[in-house]
Amino acid sequence: MLDQIAAEGIRFEAAYAQAPWTRPSVASLFTGLYPASHDVITQYQRMGSDLPTISTMLKSRGYRTACFSANPQVSPAFGFHRGYDQFWNSYSSLAETTAVWALRHKVAAVAFDLFPSLLGRVREAQAGVPGTDAASVNHAISTWLDREDAEELKEQPLFLYVQYLDPHDPYHAPDTPAHIEHLDEAFLHAPQSLPPHPLKGSSLPPVDDDTLAKLKAAYDREIRFVDARLGEMLEDLRTRGLYQEGDYLIVTSDHGEEFYDHDQWLHGRSLYEEMVRIPLLIHGPSVPVGKVIDAPVELTDMVETIAGMTGRKAGFPTHGMDLFPLMVGKANGNNELAYSHRPNEAHPIYMLRAGSHKLLQFGNAVEGGEEPLRLAFDLTTDPNELSPLPDAGGEEWERLHELLTKFMDEEADLKRSGSTSVDLTSGVKSDLSDLGYVDGVAPPPPPSD
Ligand SMILES: [Zn+2]
Repeated sequence: MLDQIAAEGIRFEAAYAQAPWTRPSVASLFTGLYPASHDVITQYQRMGSDLPTISTMLKSRGYRTACFSANPQVSPAFGFHRGYDQFWNSYSSLAETTAVWALRHKVAAVAFDLFPSLLGRVREAQAGVPGTDAASVNHAISTWLDREDAEELKEQPLFLYVQYLDPHDPYHAPDTPAHIEHLDEAFLHAPQSLPPHPLKGSSLPPVDDDTLAKLKAAYDREIRFVDARLGEMLEDLRTRGLYQEGDYLIVTSDHGEEFYDHDQWLHGRSLYEEMVRIPLLIHGPSVPVGKVIDAPVELTDMVETIAGMTGRKAGFPTHGMDLFPLMVGKANGNNELAYSHRPNEAHPIYMLRAGSHKLLQFGNAVEGGEEPLRLAFDLTTDPNELSPLPDAGGEEWERLHELLTKFMDEEADLKRSGSTSVDLTSGVKSDLSDLGYVDGVAPPPPPSD
């Protein structure tokens, strides 16, 4: 399906997520702001209630707005529901209705003795996170559409945001054939508080080639699974007359996963290409067919790009720009630059992509202190970022450094206060930890006195 969308629309070869994990990255997508600006950067922060987003913008322009999210990071608990007439989150419904779910959380471990057959179902559930797969998301969308008045739906423009979760840790596609053994992936999980690669102490234990191949194959199966479900969802919308000629489709992602590309696992730890260079496909009216664009673009560009699809500017400040002029080949001041930020108290990372060059900065510059480590790569000759360019202090190096500083300043300048802190209930915490979140990102300890 993704190949077909790319063939019929535009594929961006160098689209970047603004953060390496879901909550800050989707907040950047929704608000058009860099992470420190929207300030949803720890496990304990909820998006400010006055921040304009894609959904609040479209709702105010007469759209019916709906969000279906399989990821607990994109949920009302963290303020992502604003502007949506309809918001579905797999966890909220599951927690109440699924017995397997309760068992998974060991609430009723004693039931294993009484109903031994349940143990098998629990093992099954542990292979993935139940109810979060793309087929369940599609089912929730169809159920909602069945409930709504079909004619009314067709009359009002619709904005539908779907957050699938399948190509994500844990790596298990629900349609995996029974003969394929599930790996216990516990060994992949290490605290996010570890220093990032290549700082000292960053390397996590490697695995043998066979295990690595199995992990990658499992991830590939998740991608194929979500690809097929995406096709089914679009077909369902088409049959209902809700996706037709004249409608736009955008497919993108919030972060990647790393498979020991830089001595680490999962996501959230780095800003290397495997983590932040994401797919971005756009299809619809006036979008050229089969075009590939190499210029770096950002998730933060989506607010203005979607605003442009409604014929007007967003009308609120963002860090992004409308990609339409770039898509149709007119210069729009796209500067071939992209910026990402791993917000982390102990080990922040900053990334700048400029043309084919990329600069990473590990940590903050401290007045009078040692300069933070900076690595530059030429992605044309070194696409896997294995051989940093020598720090010759040459002109290009200076330019990259200046540009990165400029982006960091812009991120600070557009800072919107108003994110609030969240009390993670044990239920949400447990949901998040199933996905490898909640570790090493606890709030700072209280003063010792
Ligand atoms: Zn994620």
